[in-house]
This record gives sequence, structure tokens and C-alpha cells, in this order.
Amino acid sequence: MKSPLLVLIYTVDCPLRCDFCWCSGNGYKPVKIRKEDAIRYIKEAAGLGVVKRVSFTGGEPFLHHAELVEVLDACKGLMPARIVTSCYWAETKGRAREMLKPLVERGLDELSCSTDPTHQAFVPAAFVKNAVEVGLELGLVCEVVSVSWNATSEVEDFMNGFRHPRLRFSQHLAVPMGRGRQRKVTWRDYNIPRPSQMGGCNLGGRDINIYPDGEVYPCCAGELNFMGKLSFGNTKKDSLKTILERIQADAYVQLVFNRGFDAIYGLARWKFPRLLPLLPKDDNLASVCQLCVRIHRDGDLMKALTPLLDYGKKLVEVEQRLEGHKKGGNNN
Ligand code: SF4
Ligand code: SF4
Repeated sequence: MKSPLLVLIYTVDCPLRCDFCWCSGNGYKPVKIRKEDAIRYIKEAAGLGVVKRVSFTGGEPFLHHAELVEVLDACKGLMPARIVTSCYWAETKGRAREMLKPLVERGLDELSCSTDPTHQAFVPAAFVKNAVEVGLELGLVCEVVSVSWNATSEVEDFMNGFRHPRLRFSQHLAVPMGRGRQRKVTWRDYNIPRPSQMGGCNLGGRDINIYPDGEVYPCCAGELNFMGKLSFGNTKKDSLKTILERIQADAYVQLVFNRGFDAIYGLARWKFPRLLPLLPKDDNLASVCQLCVRIHRDGDLMKALTPLLDYGKKLVEVEQRLEGHKKGGNNN
């Protein structure tokens, strides 16, 4: 099982207004994690022994560059850091160096840069190239990520043929939420399987995603986290250890992360047929996360699904034990 990542939604503020994003200007308060809290979360997560990396995302973490330097300085040596950014600050390579160097000196080892036609309405792809080239010079692993409402734009094209062994690319389809909530896009428009037939959403991972209000979620799904009532605790009253244990023990998370809705609908068809009519239709949805919201926010449905989820969790556990044995056997 992969190590959980500590994800800090450092701020929901952002100078950009991407049309698929729920940040910012949505009235969510508080707008950012306090610097002291971020330091506390990293120290506490490091003490768990299983969290190996912290990721700063948002919103736009670089809005608080000086604080990020202070946070990394206070947590130096505890775990490497990753930052997700639009690179709005990288007008020149000189400026990119000025921003990245103090962070790299304090533990930043990965930079995730977002660019696609929507981001490029605000930030030219050349800024991302500046940040990536300087990041690579400074020894970072860099990622260029695109999100779009169609599957046609190729993320590699935005770097004008620039390639590097420490540069990777990833491409995602936009999920209707935030400013894009009213979009009528569905899985058919994206030419992908229906959400109820999709596999696990986060294979092997159960991350600790902390929002500025202290609520902690197992995944980073923006406002869909709140809409789906996916919080497993709040840092104001629960320790990260307790919250992580709740996440790891939860049958729904276990099944959805590892096997997806394919397993939930499949088990309903095969073993719990009385539950099948209760499960939502997915005809007008574009993403598993939208389906997740429909199921998880419905307390009565979740209660009815309990035997199915417990049964599914046991199957996943058996499967993981068998995989463990197989791996052990292969090592001999
Ligand atoms: S997608 Fe990222 S860059 Fe765009 S508005 Fe949202 S937080 Fe800002
Ligand atoms: S499907 Fe649910 S649990 Fe999985 S990433 Fe989306 S919101 Fe999170």
C-alpha cells in the first residue's frame, strides 16, 4: 500500500479564475491555513511514521511564498515537499529562480505546474516552461498537468517539444464543479466508461487532505469533498492519527479507492439485489466523484449499503493479503 500523502489546501484564494474550479470567491472561509497550523500538521504527520511527503495545493500556494519558505524552514528534514501552482509568478527564468531556490534549499523536491487552454487565458504556457526549466536545473522533479473540457488538447504540446527525464506529464478531464457546475458534460461526451463501471479512484492511497477550516478528507476533490460529506474529522478536535485510522478502517473508502463503483454496483447486482434500485443512475454524470457525492451524502442510502460495503471491504482485504503473499513468494 502506498504511503499516505499529507495534502495542505494552503489557500482557496487564487489570482486565476479557471472555469472548472471552485476556488476562489466562493465564500469559503477561512481562506487559508495558518502558518503555525501548517507547521503543526507537518510535524504531527511526520510523527505518524507513515506519511512520507507533504503537498501544498489550493488555490494558489505561491500567493504566500514567504510563509511557505518559513513553513519548510521550520519542518526541514521531516519530509520532502511538493507544490502545485499555475506558475503565474514565473514571468522570467530569473524570477522563477528567485522564487524556487529558497524553497528547494528547505526541502521542496517536486513542482506540479498546471497549464491548459483554460489556465493559459490567464498565464502563458511560457511561464510554466520557465518554472519547469529552472525547477529541473535546481534538481526538482517536475510535472505538467492539464485539465480540459475535451480530450483533444495534448499536454505535451504546451512545452514546445521540451522533454527531460525528471519531467512528466498528466492530463485530466474537467469535473463539473465550481464555476463549471452547470456544464452539461457527461461520460458520453468524454468517451469514457460510465462512472458506475469505473475502477478504483485512488489505488492504494488514503491521503490526509486538510482544508483551511481544519476538516480532513481522504482525497482532494475540491467542493465535492464537502458536498459528499466525506470529512473524517477536524484537526481542531481530532489527532491526525485518529483521523487516518478512521479513513483506513472505512469500508466505503476502502472499496471506492481500490475497486471503484464497478464493485459497488456489481456486488448489488450479484449479492444484494434489493439494493440495486436504490443506487443512483449515472446517465448525466461525467465523473466518479459526482457519483460519489450522490451516494455518500445520502445518509439513508449509506445506512442501507452497510452490509454490501462490509462484504466488499472483506473481499478487498482478502485480495490484498493474497497479493502480499504473492509478492512475498516472488521475492524468494
Ligand atoms: S484551477 Fe488552480 S489556477 Fe485555476 S483557478 Fe483553480 S486554483 Fe486557480
Ligand atoms: S470518487 Fe469519492 S473518494 Fe474517490 S476521489 Fe472522488 S470524491 Fe474522493
